[in-house]
Amino acid sequence: MTKLNIKAKKAQVKVSDPESQRSRLNNSETLKTPEEYRAALSKMKPNIVKDKVVRDPCKDKELDKGINVVAVSYEYAHDQKMKEFMTAKSPLTGKTIHRYNHIPRSKEDLEKRYEMINTLAQETFCAQRCVGSDALYALFMGTYLVDQDKVLNTNYHRHFLEYLKYVQENDIAPAGAITDAKGDRSVSPAEQPERDSYVHVVRKTDKGVYVSGVKSPITTGAYAEEICVLPGRQFAAHEKDFAIAFAIPADAEGITRFVLSPEIKALEGEFSACHGKKYLNKEAMIVFEDVFVPWGRVFLCGEYQYAGRYADFFATVHRFSYCACKPAVFNLLSGAAALISEYNGTEGKYLFSDSKGKLFDIMKNADMIQGMGQAAIKFAKETESGAVLPDPKYANLGKFISGEQFPKAISILQDMAGNLPVSLPHENLLKDKEYGPKVKKVFARKEGIPPEDHYRLNELIRTIAASDEGGLLQFGTRHGGGTIEVEKATIYTQNLKKLQECKKMAKRQAGIE
Ligand code: SF4
Repeated sequence: MTKLNIKAKKAQVKVSDPESQRSRLNNSETLKTPEEYRAALSKMKPNIVKDKVVRDPCKDKELDKGINVVAVSYEYAHDQKMKEFMTAKSPLTGKTIHRYNHIPRSKEDLEKRYEMINTLAQETFCAQRCVGSDALYALFMGTYLVDQDKVLNTNYHRHFLEYLKYVQENDIAPAGAITDAKGDRSVSPAEQPERDSYVHVVRKTDKGVYVSGVKSPITTGAYAEEICVLPGRQFAAHEKDFAIAFAIPADAEGITRFVLSPEIKALEGEFSACHGKKYLNKEAMIVFEDVFVPWGRVFLCGEYQYAGRYADFFATVHRFSYCACKPAVFNLLSGAAALISEYNGTEGKYLFSDSKGKLFDIMKNADMIQGMGQAAIKFAKETESGAVLPDPKYANLGKFISGEQFPKAISILQDMAGNLPVSLPHENLLKDKEYGPKVKKVFARKEGIPPEDHYRLNELIRTIAASDEGGLLQFGTRHGGGTIEVEKATIYTQNLKKLQECKKMAKRQAGIE
C-alpha cells in the first residue's frame, strides 16, 4: 500500500548560477529547477491575453501564482527526501527524469505516481501538472493501439516516442488540451453552427496538417511551454476531421491563449489563508487558427474509430490522479472542521447532532477515495504498449465519490463553522489600538486561543467554502476530468457483466428456474 505523507514536505532547493542549471539537463538527470521553468516561460512569444496581452506570465501577479503551483513539482523533484517518488529512470533516455514525464510501466510506478500527486496536493490543493502528464500517458497507449491496426498502417507511436523523449530531455510540463468548446450540446460535432466548437483538421500538406478550433477550459494552458491536444470523445466516420491528436509549442503561430475567470483572486492580508497568497489555478481557453503541425508531431489524424479510445485512456488515468489528490483535499476539510469545532467549543454532542458524526461524514471520503485509488492500482492491467493502465472502474469510482461528496463535505464544514468565516471584521482592526480590543470580542470562545489564530482559521474556511477560489475548487472537483454523469456511465458499463451474475444469484435465491 502506498504510504501517504500526511505532512506536506517542503523542499529546500538552492539554485546555482544559470550555467550549472543548464548542465543539469545534459548529465544523468534531466530535471529543471523552478527558475529554469520560469525562464523558459518568460522567453516565449507573447500570445496570452487577459484583458490585454500579457508580455511575460511570470510578471503577471495572478498567472505567477499558477506558475508557483507547477514550480512546486519542479522543486520537489530536487529534494532528496522526495526524489524516489518525484523522479523515475527513463527507459527512453536512460536518465533520471521527472515522474510526471514518465509513463507508468508497473504497479510500483503507479504507487509512486500516487504518492507524488498526493504530496503535491497537500501543498497546492491541485497540482495542475497531472493533466498534461496524463495526456502524455494516454497518447503513449493510444498511439500504440492505433498503430496495431493493419488496415490503417499508421506510424504514430514512433513519432510520439520521439516527442516524449524531447519532453523528458527538456523536463517540459505540457498542458493537456482535451475538452473542446463543444457548442450546442444537442447537435453532433459535424452539425455545429460554429465549426471551431471542436478542434479539427483544416487541410493537409506533405509537411503536416493545419488545425483550427477551441479547447477550453485548459489547466496550465497559460503557463505551459507545450500543448498536447487529444480528442475528448468518439467521432463518426463523417466526423473524421475532428479525430486529431498532436503536440505543439504553446506559442506557435496561430495560437491565442485567453486567461479565464478574471474575477477569481485571493485575499492577501496578513491573516488571509496562506494558500491564496502563493497559489491560484488559472485556466485558459486556447484558440487555434490555422495552426501548422508537422507530421512528426501528429498522433492521430482522421482515424475516427480510435478517437474515443484516446479519450477513454485519458479519462481513466486522470480519474486515477484524482484518487490521489482528493484525499489530501478532504483531509484538509476534516482538519479545518475538527479545529473550528475545537475553537468554537462544539465538540461532542451539540443540539440535535454530534460533531463527531459530522466529522466522520467528511473524513470517510478521504479513506474511500484512497481505497479506490489503491484498488485501481491492485487491479491495474499491463497494456501491449508496455504501459500499465489503472483499473477504470475503481479510478472512476474514486473520482465519482469525490465529485459527489465534495459539496456535502463543504456544507458540513459550513455547518460546523457557523457564520463567522463570512462575517469577519476587517483584519487591520485587529491590530488597531482603539478598535482592536472591541473587534476581538467576537472571537471570544474557549480560553487560550488567540483571536488572530481564530481569524486565520475562519479565513481558511472562507477560502475553501465561500470564496471565488473555493468556488473554482468546487466546480473543478465536479467537472474536472469529466462530469459525474460520464463517470456513472463508465462505472455502470464496467459492472454490466457482473450484473448478469447478480441476476442469476437473485433467481437462485428466489427459486426461479
Ligand atoms: Fe491533478 Fe487532482 Fe489537480 Fe486534476 S484536480 S490536476 S488530478 S491535482
